[in-house]
Amino acid sequence: GASTRSGHWTQHSAFSNALFRRLFHFTFRKNAMLAMKSKEADPPPSVLSAGIASRYGPGRCRQVAAALLDSVAGRIVPARPPLSCPLCQWIPFVPVTLPCGHTACRPCLEAVTRCPDCAAPVPLRADTNVLLKAAVAKWWAPESEAARIKVEGDLLLRSNCPERALEKYNTALKIAPDDHLLLEARADVLLRLNRCEASLNDAQALTRLRPLWPKGYYRRGMILAYLGQYEDALLSFSICVALEKNAEKVKPEFTKTLQRFLCPSSSCKSVYVSKRLPLVPWWSSNHNSPSDFPSKNVDDGIIDNFNKTAISTFHSLESRKLHLLLDRIFEEIDKTKKITNGGRSLVIRRNLVDPDDFECVLCCRTLWRPVTTPCGHTYCAMCLDRCLDYSPNCPLCMTSLSQYLGSSDKSVTDFLEVALAMTLPEEYASRLLAHRQEASILAAAPDVPVFVCTTAFPTVPCPLFVFEPRYRLMIRRAIDTGGRFAMAACVHQHNGVKKFAEYGTMLEIRDIVLLSDGCSILSNVGARRFRVSSRSECDGYDTAQVQYIVDDPIPHHYLPELTKLHDSVRSRGMKWFGAMGREMQTKILRTFGAMPALETNWAALEDGPAWAWWLLAILPLGQHLQIGILGTTCLEKRLKAIDKTLKHFEEGPHNIESVSSSAESGLKRGPSETTT
Ligand SMILES: [Zn+2]
Ligand SMILES: [Zn+2]
Ligand SMILES: [Zn+2]
Ligand SMILES: [Zn+2]
Repeated sequence: GASTRSGHWTQHSAFSNALFRRLFHFTFRKNAMLAMKSKEADPPPSVLSAGIASRYGPGRCRQVAAALLDSVAGRIVPARPPLSCPLCQWIPFVPVTLPCGHTACRPCLEAVTRCPDCAAPVPLRADTNVLLKAAVAKWWAPESEAARIKVEGDLLLRSNCPERALEKYNTALKIAPDDHLLLEARADVLLRLNRCEASLNDAQALTRLRPLWPKGYYRRGMILAYLGQYEDALLSFSICVALEKNAEKVKPEFTKTLQRFLCPSSSCKSVYVSKRLPLVPWWSSNHNSPSDFPSKNVDDGIIDNFNKTAISTFHSLESRKLHLLLDRIFEEIDKTKKITNGGRSLVIRRNLVDPDDFECVLCCRTLWRPVTTPCGHTYCAMCLDRCLDYSPNCPLCMTSLSQYLGSSDKSVTDFLEVALAMTLPEEYASRLLAHRQEASILAAAPDVPVFVCTTAFPTVPCPLFVFEPRYRLMIRRAIDTGGRFAMAACVHQHNGVKKFAEYGTMLEIRDIVLLSDGCSILSNVGARRFRVSSRSECDGYDTAQVQYIVDDPIPHHYLPELTKLHDSVRSRGMKWFGAMGREMQTKILRTFGAMPALETNWAALEDGPAWAWWLLAILPLGQHLQIGILGTTCLEKRLKAIDKTLKHFEEGPHNIESVSSSAESGLKRGPSETTT
């Protein structure tokens, strides 16, 4: 294989060798086979010449190029400078913040379908980030001015006025000499004007300025290829692909250049074909007798570039060129990999930044966890949520935000957060502190938030449809602070005043489905029971201090008797459920699940056996009875109450239909259910 020879050439990395063998294999093996055959029975000359031609023909080259680029693609993961567009690595002149929270400039985003940072799809509509656009113009005034002039230059170039475009780029570069986008544009226009040397100078300066910007290498490669410096061009293209694995534009250029590199003059093709070069590859036994090979016929122009003694056939020449190229490519990639600094970072001059740049129009404070809407407006996430509880539109421009509301991913605009932390660290720290204090006041409050709606039971599912603004806020806070809230039924006092019941159940949020109108569907499961000890209010919703209640311990001597009662009530309950209509059963199973299995230690549980709560949830009991049974700490009383109800049904089976009201209202619609 190739390894036997590689020692004579140069020190190759193991990888480069392995890759070379792969490339070599499918580049030359086919031709070699053809050649072997030709020795046995001379094929028609046309086949032979096709075989030779195809060796460096477009098809073969495309394969070699594809394999080579595949092996380098994405080898370098560039650390891009902070506070820059991830695509052009420069100021986001026209910043667009995507739903994933990442920001890039509009022209850059127009060329991609996925977010360059997280690969989330780019939405059809994404307006310019208004707040950030103003900030960019203020923080980077000269760079913005240069970017504006560049746009004019680009337009001139598109309308075929390269000279005038060049003037614009020159002007802009005087304002922002570090703008690599301008250098890239100027290198391009200079090449079009056939000012090759100046063009190459710009390209070289460009890759020095931004050594981790893939497009710079693409531009340099294009210029080098144009100048006939194929090997250097191939190097540039390779680094481009190593930095940006999706650089599709580079692939055809690389292939074309590789073809020219491997076969620099068209004359060599005709020479070989006409002389009918023996097509024995260098690894065959024949390579020991170089005299068999017409090395004198090989194009002198090519061979002079290499060590003549090492090359005995055209194959070895071609393969050696490829081998050396691979070495250089991997050497260059290794060098580029070691670059940690992707060029001078964009600096925001502190004196140009003030806290107003980061102000939330809703709370008039420094933005905290800023989110940007599809219409390009930025608010604190919490401020926007509270506005949206009342109206599904953007508070500034009234654009409907139903899509934003329906998505669970409301990502922070990281550009603004990073900029704030970097430029105004004190403001950032004090805003963080303020937020933590507010959150800890809520979390440390002795009160639990109360959703006033229905009686829930321990272990039993209690789905909820949340639509009232105050409850939306309450649920968001509950999610932020452990995912629990209290559920209590709404009861009427004698004087007509509504208040919540004395007994209730804590609910644990298991899942939340956000709807595009800002409402949500919660899946909850009942946890501990409580008794209300004091009532209060917070931002429009009820709160309470509660005491958890548990069943009284069962005296040991009483256990056999209680077990008898328990077993009989349970089987009566199962019978009752079994006698129910199919349709009703399905409804119940969908909302509450199947009857829970009996726990072995049911008598020792704080809330007793779960099946009893499940049955209580589906039995059509009056509200006061439900609350009373929930509040009792005596398992015997609870079982007897269930037994009594079941017996009542056994006596009058027609009553079973009234169960439906309980099952159908499985999804509680907030408090409105109890108000009607
Ligand atoms: Zn950009
Ligand atoms: Zn993203
Ligand atoms: Zn705010
Ligand atoms: Zn808006």
